Amino acid sequence: MNTDDRCPRCGEGRMKSWRELEKEEHEVVRRLPASAEDAAAERQRLNRWCTRCWYESRGAETTA
Ligand SMILES: [Zn+2]
Repeated sequence: MNTDDRCPRCGEGRMKSWRELEKEEHEVVRRLPASAEDAAAERQRLNRWCTRCWYESRGAETTA
């Protein structure tokens, strides 16, 4: 079991990266209020979402 993917808010959903989301889920993400803070490209590259409660996790920017 990959507990790292578990949503910290609802504890049920799995955090998914942009590429893992379905097309219709992309539309939901675009309507989330957090979109004003981050550029869309950055969100899609770094962030992950819970498709159950739509908690958005800001991806850690690794200094690699
Ligand atoms: Zn959740």
